[in-house]
Amino acid sequence: MATVETEIVEAQQFIGGEWVPSSGGETFDDTDPFTGDIVARIPAGTREDAKNAIEAAAAASEEWGATPPAVKQQVFLKAADVLESRQDEVVSLLARESGATFGFGMFQMHFVPGLFRQAAGTAYASMGEIIPSDTGAFAMGIRRPVGVVGAIAPWNAALILSARSITAPLVLGNAVVLKPSELSPYVGGLLWGEIFAEAGLPSGVLNIVTHGPGEAAPIGDELVENPHVRVLNFTGSTNTGRILAEAAGRNLKRCVLELGGYNPLIVLGDADLEFAVNATAFGAFLHQGQICMSARRIIVERSIADEFVDQLAQKTAGLKAGDPKEHDTIIGPLITEQALDLVKSRVDDAVAKGAKVIAGGEAVGPCYQATLLTDVPEESEFAQYETFGPVAAIEVVDSPDEAVDRANATAYGLASGVITNDADKGLELAQRIQAGIVHVNDQPVGDEPQMPFGGVKDSGWGRFGSTAAIAEFTDMHWVTVGRPHPFPF
Ligand code: NAD
Repeated sequence: MATVETEIVEAQQFIGGEWVPSSGGETFDDTDPFTGDIVARIPAGTREDAKNAIEAAAAASEEWGATPPAVKQQVFLKAADVLESRQDEVVSLLARESGATFGFGMFQMHFVPGLFRQAAGTAYASMGEIIPSDTGAFAMGIRRPVGVVGAIAPWNAALILSARSITAPLVLGNAVVLKPSELSPYVGGLLWGEIFAEAGLPSGVLNIVTHGPGEAAPIGDELVENPHVRVLNFTGSTNTGRILAEAAGRNLKRCVLELGGYNPLIVLGDADLEFAVNATAFGAFLHQGQICMSARRIIVERSIADEFVDQLAQKTAGLKAGDPKEHDTIIGPLITEQALDLVKSRVDDAVAKGAKVIAGGEAVGPCYQATLLTDVPEESEFAQYETFGPVAAIEVVDSPDEAVDRANATAYGLASGVITNDADKGLELAQRIQAGIVHVNDQPVGDEPQMPFGGVKDSGWGRFGSTAAIAEFTDMHWVTVGRPHPFPF
């Protein structure tokens, strides 16, 4: 079990209700992306650890599946309370482990207790239907837990996304093996072992396996190939999602894929300018643009473009980059040096091909300034791929129709926004935007536990969200109760 009395968290994996080292005995240092200090020492788990975790989950799954809803409800209500009682420590860890600013840390800290408390209600959700039968039989569609669910989470909104990956599967009666990111193994992973053990979740129902940098594949392979794991949920990049989906296909394994985004934000000519500027800055730069829903392509109608761009550039230039532990910092560090290099090279490539920088455009230590580009050419890497950092491209269009065409000119389809004072127009455009999520009169970043969250196209498939998740993490069974009746022979 981890301790926080010392500055460095000494962590173990959580398997079958025990805190255990890696089977190979190795550990790795989990570091602060701003200072480079060691935050935690984490077991560098192996495929064997993943197998042990899956077996522990399989052994615990039947009893947990048959556990009364009142018990499941109590576990989730208690988990919410335990998490809240650790708020200051968790927000500090989010800053130290994942570079989250105070604001983004608090956002996560508010979201997750709500997720748990809504899940407590899901314990009592209707799990099936009565279906009229022509045979006179009493026919039912009954949803049952699948057994073991594998969960692979990213580092970026570490607390929310790891919690989301285990919550619906657990409350629906499944046992879970969670593999957090090597970049957030504690606050996006092992922390849940501590919290759910204290909340009374039985041993083996939640298992957490960690691994060293670049060592995800063997654990992912075990989660995909082990027949005990019936459903896999993955949140992360489109590239990794594609690898896992291919393997899942070979193994006929169901999967929920929550992948990357290239999220458009349309600002129509009738928009309230101040609101549009504030919304755009928030949507593009919260958590230094390292959110799957971050606004990346700002599409503005020509009639207000000059004024909008001027005001947005001014606001962007005023966003403080620096230490995320200082409460007025808006732009914290990028998660790794490689992430920073990628952002720099994408901006440089766009500029070399003709883009103009109208705000930011420089690294400041491990941070990258909030940056706005215009005239980004279609052939630049920035225009083609998600760039996970505080950089947004502005495009000017002549009509709402052109705005929709530009919004859809991407392989991704996660989140989007349309800012307009004409709600009917906004709704009409919303029906034509190829994205799993459209917010009229808001920017793309936002989530609530009960909403059907997920993408289309290369942003994945499947939905989290308390009702949508029931279909993802249960099996539907057709069960009949008949009466004696004649047969033809
Ligand atoms: P990533 O794909 O690099 O890693 C995600 C997870 O997959 C991590 O746990 C990682 O260790 C693991 N992983 C990597 N290779 C693997 C393999 N071969 N087998 C099994 N697991 C493997 O993504 P990231 O950098 O951690 O996260 C950022 C990406 O996630 C961005 O593209 C972002 O848009 C996306 N994201 C999507 C959502 C969503 O809900 N749609 C939410 C957050 C982040």
